[in-house]
Amino acid sequence: MLTDKFGRNINYLRLAIVDRCNLRCTYCMPEKGLSWIKQNELMTDEEMLRICSVFTEMGVDKIRITGGEPFVRKNSIKLIQKISELEELTDLSITTNGLLTEQYIPQLKKYGIKSVNLSLDTLDRDRFFKITRRNSFDKVMKTLDRLLQYDIKVKINTVVMEGENTEDIIPLVMLTKDLPVDVRFIEEMPFNGGETDISLKWNFTQIYSHIKDHFPEIQKTDDPKSSTSYNYKIPDFEGSVGIIAAYTRSFCGDCNRIRITPSGILRTCLYEGTGINLKHEIRMGKTDEELKNIIISSIHKKPKDGWEAEKLSLTASQIHQSMATIGG
Ligand code: SAM
Ligand code: SF4
Repeated sequence: MLTDKFGRNINYLRLAIVDRCNLRCTYCMPEKGLSWIKQNELMTDEEMLRICSVFTEMGVDKIRITGGEPFVRKNSIKLIQKISELEELTDLSITTNGLLTEQYIPQLKKYGIKSVNLSLDTLDRDRFFKITRRNSFDKVMKTLDRLLQYDIKVKINTVVMEGENTEDIIPLVMLTKDLPVDVRFIEEMPFNGGETDISLKWNFTQIYSHIKDHFPEIQKTDDPKSSTSYNYKIPDFEGSVGIIAAYTRSFCGDCNRIRITPSGILRTCLYEGTGINLKHEIRMGKTDEELKNIIISSIHKKPKDGWEAEKLSLTASQIHQSMATIGG
């Protein structure tokens, strides 16, 4: 079992398999994209699989595939299949923007994927274009339908931004009336790959009181251990609502997660500037035992919370990394 120096059990790995993306969400990256990771710096399928295998032998039983957009990576479905076959894994899930996802849903079901996080910041076609800089709203909605048809649990991720999509909050809550989806409103974080600073007007408190004003009957439900969302339900609605205080960082005390970037960097906290590069260690010929020792010592140094991580590691320029290279 992997434990950090604060006694937190680390059993959840978020693996970003690519940094490239077919959208250009304003909160995540600039219009021109990023300076993408070079092919030889990107981990190969074999390296990713080896890292997943080493982690599962160390007690990780939950892996989320993310990116960039996971399905932009060549043959990502094959990699997902291989990861799904790891013996110790009990929970494999994916975060996707839904553009290329629909065609793979039958396979995802076959590989045992029970839950997909689908990013959708608005139910309005024009606002979708404004936020993502692409005209792909219908594709995302088709993916949503198909996931539900296949009885795959869907969590919708919505980043809330002043002046961009706050009028979507109530329509998105209404989506939970007849659909068994979990809509999660996320505080915007400063990871947009650019210069702009964010103004966090729509923090947890503001989002919650806005929903409560429209649905005074809203009820608090249980937050599973290590959940990043505060969870709610409108009585008699099929689905549920969550708020993720991603910027306020009020959930670090129960953190059970680590991240691997597409180039192989182990980040023990989202707000950490950098970390050890496991791909380099693999390419230098390290054995699994040696990799495990490196991982144990990195995890031991996992910061207490996102505030400490930011203070220890980030320079002003690093703050504006893109979420697409960190993995969300
Ligand atoms: N491309 C996939 C997608 O959009 O679902 C997976 C990668 S994306 C980086 C993972 C998650 O991070 C998405 O749900 C996205 O909304 C969220 N995200 C990206 N940039 C963010 C930011 N600056 N603040 C908060 N959440 C962000
Ligand atoms: Fe792409 Fe996801 Fe970033 Fe949007 S949030 S630009 S879909 S990686």
